[in-house]
Parts: sequence; structure tokens; C-alpha cells
Amino acid sequence: MERKGAGKKPEWLKIRMASGASFASTRRLLDHHSLNTVCRSALCPNLQECWSRGTATFLLLGNICTRTCRFCAVGKAAQPPAPDPLEPQNIALAVESMRLKHVVLTSVTRDDLPDGGAEHWVKTIRAIRSSKPSLSIECLIPDFQGNESALDMVMAEAPEVLNHNIETVPSLYSEVRPQASYNRSLELLQRAKKHFGLSTKSGLMVGMGETAVEVETALGDLIRHGCDMVTIGQYLQPSAAHLPVERYITPEEFEAYRGVAEASGFHHVQSGPFVRSSYHAEAFTNNIETLP
Ligand code: SF4
Repeated sequence: MERKGAGKKPEWLKIRMASGASFASTRRLLDHHSLNTVCRSALCPNLQECWSRGTATFLLLGNICTRTCRFCAVGKAAQPPAPDPLEPQNIALAVESMRLKHVVLTSVTRDDLPDGGAEHWVKTIRAIRSSKPSLSIECLIPDFQGNESALDMVMAEAPEVLNHNIETVPSLYSEVRPQASYNRSLELLQRAKKHFGLSTKSGLMVGMGETAVEVETALGDLIRHGCDMVTIGQYLQPSAAHLPVERYITPEEFEAYRGVAEASGFHHVQSGPFVRSSYHAEAFTNNIETLP
């Protein structure tokens, strides 16, 4: 599609600054353990707010991704450095000293590794569980190229939430996430629900050129594939080299999407300009016990 761009940011997307003592201590802790976060690597607009609340989303397997998704600010290379074997333990140590009830883990996509990094995921989950068993864990996983044994390794650890983003509607996949597959992502969510009985979550960005009807269809697809929770947020262009924003979705339109998602049967919905996959993730966990 030919893109014109959305022009100047509207008033409702002006970033709210909220740093304080807890912001500095979160940053110190992450730096002390040399940890990557998606908050920093993906230039998340909520970084100030989340770190000031003492929360962050850990990025496993380094901060270089093997895919070339055009919306994402994370660095890219075909052959990133080998994963740091100390990372699982270091994440567990950081998590132990943060006052969290729920932690979100995610990773870059490592198509260069035979298991896509699944074993590293398992080690991290286990390290956190052994140092802080009361914590609930949300795993925002890549698609592992549909490798069922890699997916099963992570799913068998029974994270409290299995999150995997579809990111956008199928008509935009070739432009937005060329190495991914919409159906493969839906099947992953279905597998987590059907074979492992996990609480499942997904998310999409809007403002990339999709229509409202396409968003509604995607929400229906997620429900049909056993997805329990959904996040919908505004896509923001991380740099001039990334895909331009096609349109700024208004707060009223986000409310309309929330209504559609709730009516479709999601147990928990977050929809708003600054919503990201891990934004206020702990709020979702209050619903976990009630999920079928
Ligand atoms: S929304 Fe998620 S990625 Fe963004 S700052 Fe908060 S925890 Fe980090």
C-alpha cells in the first residue's frame, strides 16, 4: 500500500513524564545485572511510567533479533551473539529484588538457534520459580517458526499467562512482519489452550492501515482460537527508517474496539493509545482464576 503518513502527533499521544526514586532504582537494578528489557530496546512510550512503578518486561536471548519486522525498534542481524548462559539466573536475581507479584518475560526471535531459544526460556522460568515461587509469570513468546517441540517445551512449564501477539491484521503481514504468519500465530494460541489449558493473551497495534472491520475480524479469529485476553494499542513509528504511522486512532475509537472485544467474549481487554502487550499486565492476572 502507498503510505501518506499520519502527520503530527495528536494531543492525546503526548508522553506523560512520571519519573522518581523508583524509576532510578529500577534502572540501576537492570544495569547492575546487565539485563535487557523490551521497554528500552523497543523504545516503549510507557517506560517512565512502568519503571517508576517498579515494573519492567525482561528481554531474553540478547537484544538483537533475527527478523526484520518493520514496526519494531529492536536491533536486527542474521547471526546475533550466542545467548548469555548467565541471563536466566541474573533475571531471577533482579526479579527477586523487585516488589512484583507478576513478571512478564519476552524475547527476541532467534531463528538462528535450533530450538529458537526454547531451552533458555525454560531455564529462565525455572530460575524465577525457584527463587520466588509465589510470582505469576507471563511469557510473551515468539512463534518459534511453528516448531512444536520448542513451543511445547515452554508451554509445559505452565506459565500463568501465555502471550503471543498477532500484532496486526493478515492483509498487512507481508509489509509489517514479513517472516511471520497470521495462521501460525493463531495456531500457537490454540495449541496453548487446547493442549496445555493455559490462559492465553494476544495483542495488536492499530494505525498501520488496517480497517475497523479487519480489526473486528481479527478479534473474532483470536476468540475462535481460544484467546482469553487482548491488548489493542496505537502503533508509533520508532524512527524514520520504520513503517510510518498511517493514522492516529482516537480515544473514542479505542473505546469502540474495547466494546467489540468485550462483546466477542474476551475475559479482559485493554484498549487505548498507550496500551502495549505488557502494559499493566498484572491487572490481567486478577482474572486468571476465573478463566475456563
Ligand atoms: S508497557 Fe511493557 S514494555 Fe512498555 S515500559 Fe511498560 S513494561 Fe516495559
